[in-house]
Amino acid sequence: MVKTSFYQYALPELQALFLKNDLPASGPGLLFNWHYKKRKSEPCHIDLAKKSIAFIEENMSFDLPVIHTLQESADKTVKFLFKLQDGLKVETVLIPFNNKYTICLSSQVGCAMKCSFCHTGIQGLSRNLKTEEIIGQFTESQKWLSKHRPEDDKILNIVFMGQGEPLHNFDAVKTACEIFLSQHGLSVADQKITISTAGYLPGLERWKDEMPDVNIALSLHSPIKEKRDKLIPINKRYPLEEVLNYVQAIPKGKNRFVTYEYLLIQDFNDSDEDAHLTGKLLEGKNAYVSLIPFNPFPGTEYKRPYLSKVEHFKSILDTYKIPTLIRATKGDEILAACGQLNSKA
Ligand code: SAH
Repeated sequence: MVKTSFYQYALPELQALFLKNDLPASGPGLLFNWHYKKRKSEPCHIDLAKKSIAFIEENMSFDLPVIHTLQESADKTVKFLFKLQDGLKVETVLIPFNNKYTICLSSQVGCAMKCSFCHTGIQGLSRNLKTEEIIGQFTESQKWLSKHRPEDDKILNIVFMGQGEPLHNFDAVKTACEIFLSQHGLSVADQKITISTAGYLPGLERWKDEMPDVNIALSLHSPIKEKRDKLIPINKRYPLEEVLNYVQAIPKGKNRFVTYEYLLIQDFNDSDEDAHLTGKLLEGKNAYVSLIPFNPFPGTEYKRPYLSKVEHFKSILDTYKIPTLIRATKGDEILAACGQLNSKA
């Protein structure tokens, strides 16, 4: 009989499974506490009823992705290459800030979006990640940190900005978020999780009713159709106006913004006109802009603009009263920066 992974269950689903099999209702909470709060990998035998233990042994697996290789850069960024059960590999990045970390998770092996500026896009899509493979990137990175950097082992933020289009793998990403958010699970606060999308409309349509309360980031990169079409081919199928309508209709808590990521490419989308059109598009929309200077990778035709140009672009957005941050590039010497992940390279 094929076992199912414990790590694929949000708490209500595990409770339903226990109920269906006539097992004591206290089991799921104990298991969540054991594996997520106490960070144990071995099966739990404490406080569980005998028949629950027997059921778990027969029906559940606890395998997680394993760290295949890792690279550390001088700025303390860590890039993990995880090996999955079927031998495929996927990357995860820990990005340091003030002795804590943001974890950049992958949602797919490769990606189907084919964005022209992205190293993962070139790789194509191999398959979706399962919930347990998303959760495992977090728990195994966390264990590595506790062991190797115990003095600063806190992962404070989760961003779905690694390989893959998270909304193209909606169900697994959604369940993973539920486990991250659960008080009995990993207890990450909702404002600390951000899902970044290229504007995958079928996922955005489901977000409002189905996705737990997490932040959204839209990869905008250009307000001009011809340019966005060239950068993000799905723009031809899912036009920006429609995407924006859905993004802005996502309910947001107090003081929360939609993040718009703007990748700056030299002499392509970094002119004053590009900045003014972006300012006009986002003015008054509770927007926060994250400017990302292009990170080059082998074989790309695009170039990163000079910092002075990036700062000038920001100064134009400032005149529209849009809060804008220039995203610091971390880990680029180990190809761990945005858009440089490619588990086949
Ligand atoms: N598919 C999702 C999430 C993965 S990409 C999305 O498109 O949003 C995460 C962020 O990295 C996106 O904003 C993406 O546009 C950006 N990115 C991709 N390639 C990049 C590169 N070469 N340099 C800088 N940022 C890049």
